[in-house]
Amino acid sequence: MNFKLPIYLDNNATTPVDPRVLESMLPYFSEKFGNPSSKHTFGYVTNAAVDLAREQIANLINANKNEIYFTSGATESINLIHFGIADKLSSIGNHIISSYVEHSASYESLLQLQKKGFDITFLKCDSKGFIHPEQIIEAIRPETILVSIIAANNEIGTINNISEIGKVCRANNILFHSDATQAFGKIKIDVNEMNIDFLSFSSHKIYGPKGIGGLFIRKGLEQKITPLIFGGGQEKGIRAGTLNVPGIVGFGKAAEICHCDFEKDFNHTKSLRDRLYKNLLSALDNVILNGDKENRLPGNLNLLIKGIKADSLISSIRNIAFSSGATCSSETGKPSRILKAIGLSDEDAKCCIRIGLGRFNTIEEIDYASEKFIEAITNLKLKRNLQSTI
Ligand code: PLP
Repeated sequence: MNFKLPIYLDNNATTPVDPRVLESMLPYFSEKFGNPSSKHTFGYVTNAAVDLAREQIANLINANKNEIYFTSGATESINLIHFGIADKLSSIGNHIISSYVEHSASYESLLQLQKKGFDITFLKCDSKGFIHPEQIIEAIRPETILVSIIAANNEIGTINNISEIGKVCRANNILFHSDATQAFGKIKIDVNEMNIDFLSFSSHKIYGPKGIGGLFIRKGLEQKITPLIFGGGQEKGIRAGTLNVPGIVGFGKAAEICHCDFEKDFNHTKSLRDRLYKNLLSALDNVILNGDKENRLPGNLNLLIKGIKADSLISSIRNIAFSSGATCSSETGKPSRILKAIGLSDEDAKCCIRIGLGRFNTIEEIDYASEKFIEAITNLKLKRNLQSTI
């Protein structure tokens, strides 16, 4: 066996730090420790490193480096846009359009705004998880101040037509935010071509460190946001607090690698995903793909295994790490909001697994995992059939 156990197949939850990223970060914990706001050599060194990271991140989405802001993660970026816009534009309108298939970071933030009196339209998706541009057109009102739609779904991998949604928003003069935490670095995003005004993303999904995130704010729109955190005026006053330099340097390097290796990573994760899916389909008859077959994240496989509880499967395959639905919803124990939104019953939603393939997975790992999945599912089916005949 030329791989180590356990095998990590949960790359939608988080990714391991790429060794090249770790190496780039190390000097910033020791000799290059200056505060980037300091006006002396130590500060100039880290300030330059932060500047480079901004550029590396901007390059990945065709933004300008001055349009990139650092936060603690995508959750904070999303909250900053929702609350910041709501506060600043409340005299113009109180209506926000979003969807039922957002990640909790977005959905829960909007529920808080709803409690504060904002009117939120949560659009329903179709059976593959898509939100259609026509739904946005129908939902727009004179008092709409923001549209916030996820770029690619974290559970079922469905990629929305962000470009068309952006076009609709621009044509109607409405600000457009997209949560691109799963899409960033995995699929092509061009904030200009796609008419995106604000984009949220995170380092730990692209082989960078945890606790560092980013936000794209289109030039000129900064004054439409009230900050969430006040203090020393860092990040042009949009997000105060001393910058997490090692995290930012690592994030920048991770983005640069994603940019350089884009095709390679895309083809690699997609081919592993397709191989695993094919292996399972050829041996089992109770496997159904959730989400869309074509417009889905290259490394995401979400499967309904009819009649087999995800929790039983997870506990019977101990040396492979994968997830039941989304990590966040498995914490609450409730059937996933996303799986329910695409029309699954509570019973079926509990029988879904999410497998996330990543840069460091290998064909050997996938073939081993396929065997283990087939063996465990077959055994659980036999056990279930036996129990039903007793
Ligand atoms: N949005 C999506 C689509 C996600 O998948 C996640 C994390 O799983 C988040 C937001 C939250 O990101 P972070 O962990 O950086 O706060």
